[in-house]
Amino acid sequence: MKLLRPVFLLLTLLLTAFYAEAQLDRAEKKMVKYVDEHNKEGLVLLKQIININSGSMNFEGVKAVGDVLMKEFAALGMEVEWIDGASFNRAGHLVARIEGGKGKKILMIGHLDTVFEKDSPNQEWRDIDENIVKAPGIADMKGGDVIILQSLKALKHAGLLEDMNITVVMTGDEELSGRPLDKARKVLIEAAEWADIALGFENGDGDPKTAIVVRRSSSGWTLKVTGNAAHSSQIFKPRVGAGAIYEASRILYQFYDELSKEEFLTFNPGMILGGTTVEYDPALKQGTAFGKGNVVSKDVTVTGDIRCISPEQLARAQATMKAIVSRHLPQTDATISFGTGYPPFAPAPGNYELLSQFSQVSQDLGFGVVEAVNPSNAGAADISFTSQYVEMGIDGMGMGGADDHTINETGDLRTFPMQTKRAAVLMYRIMKGIALGKGK
Ligand SMILES: [Zn+2]
Repeated sequence: MKLLRPVFLLLTLLLTAFYAEAQLDRAEKKMVKYVDEHNKEGLVLLKQIININSGSMNFEGVKAVGDVLMKEFAALGMEVEWIDGASFNRAGHLVARIEGGKGKKILMIGHLDTVFEKDSPNQEWRDIDENIVKAPGIADMKGGDVIILQSLKALKHAGLLEDMNITVVMTGDEELSGRPLDKARKVLIEAAEWADIALGFENGDGDPKTAIVVRRSSSGWTLKVTGNAAHSSQIFKPRVGAGAIYEASRILYQFYDELSKEEFLTFNPGMILGGTTVEYDPALKQGTAFGKGNVVSKDVTVTGDIRCISPEQLARAQATMKAIVSRHLPQTDATISFGTGYPPFAPAPGNYELLSQFSQVSQDLGFGVVEAVNPSNAGAADISFTSQYVEMGIDGMGMGGADDHTINETGDLRTFPMQTKRAAVLMYRIMKGIALGKGK
C-alpha cells in the first residue's frame, strides 16, 4: 500500500486539475494560459517598480512608479490620467479607464506608495528562495498593482477588455494620506459613485485563502482637559477641585470601563501630556509639558484613535465618549473632538455575495475555497471610501506575503499568477452577468 500512495496522490492531483479545467469556458482557459505564459514578464515589471523608492513623501518616486504603470495601461487602450496631489500635499493619483458599455461597472483599487521612505534600509528586491522575495511594498501593494495590470492584459488577450466598464484608481498616499482628506480622496470617491462593484488588491491578511469583506474605520480624537492651578495642599477643596490630571484619568478609565468589551470597537489613547503648561504640535505629533508635584495640574492633552466596524457603531461610541467626558470632577472642564479619517468598509450583504462568487471562481480554477478575514485583523484601507456607494466590494485580492510595514516584508510569488487568474475570471463573469445573475 505504501508504494501505491504516490500514484494515488498523483491521480488525485491530475483529477483535480482536470476537474478545475472543466469548470472553465473557452475565454477563461485562454486567460489562464495567457497569465501563465506572461507571468515572468509581470514579475520583471514588479521588480522594476519595487526598485523605485515610493515612500508616500517621496513625490518624485511615487510619480515615477505611476509613469511606468500609466504607460502599460495606455498600451491596453485605456484612457490614463495623472491627478496632481499638490492640493493635498502628496504626489497624486493614477487613474485608468475603459468604458465599453457592457456589464457592471468595476472599480479596481491599488496604491503606488509604500511605508518605506528614502531613509529606510529596505529599498530593494531580494530573492530569499524561488518563491519568496523580500522587498519594500511587494505585498503592500505593488504586487497587487501588477496583478491588476496582468489581469487586464489577460482580459485584453481574450478580446474582452474593450467591451468592459473598468476604472483603475491607484492612490499615491494610501500609507500616509494627504490632507484635507476630502481633497485627497475626491477622485476615489467619484470613481466609487460611478462604479457598481469595487475590487481592492491589497494584500489582506497575506493568505490567499481569505479575502476582506469588512474593514474597520480609523480616525483620531483629541481630549483637552483643564483644571485650577493652585497649591497642591489645597487640592480637593471646593474652590480648587481635582485638577486636570485626575479628570483626564477619570475620563480614560471610564472609556475603558464602559466601552472596552464591545466587539470590533477599539480606541487607543496614544499620547498624553499634562501639567501646569502643555504645548502640543498636532502636525509633528509631539510636545512638551511642565509641572511640579506641589502644583495642581492645569492642562492635559490626550490624543488617540478609534476603530469601528460601521458608521452606526462609530456614532454610538462617540456619543458614549462625549457623555463620559461631560461628567467632570469638581472644578475641571474637558472637551473631546473627533477627526475625520478612514470610514469603515461596512459588512454589506453584497460584499458577502461577491465573496462567494470569488470563492466559486477560485474553486473552478482549482485554488480552493476563499473565506472572509476576521474584521479585527483588517485595518482601514482605500476601499473603505467606496463602501457607501457600491453595491458590492471585496478587498485582499492582491499578492500574498508577510510582515508588511516592516523591513522584513516578503511576497509569495506563487500567489501572483493565482490572484491574477482569479481577478481576470471574476471580472469576466461579472461582465457576462453570470456571477451576479444580472447585467446592467
Ligand atoms: Zn496597502
